[in-house]
Amino acid sequence: MHTRPGAAPATAADRQQRLPSIAVRHVHWFRWSGADPFSGSSLYACRCGVVRPGL
Ligand SMILES: [Zn+2]
Repeated sequence: MHTRPGAAPATAADRQQRLPSIAVRHVHWFRWSGADPFSGSSLYACRCGVVRPGL
């Protein structure tokens, strides 16, 4: 009665695609991001925000 052809509702898969891909589980790719001001050692950061000290 009140249905409108062509107006398909958003599916769950459609919403998942809008999530930032950086949030998915991944292998960290650490890149040199600077020197630790306290220890002076190098710091490496992944683009997801995880930081670890020098390798
Ligand atoms: Zn990461």
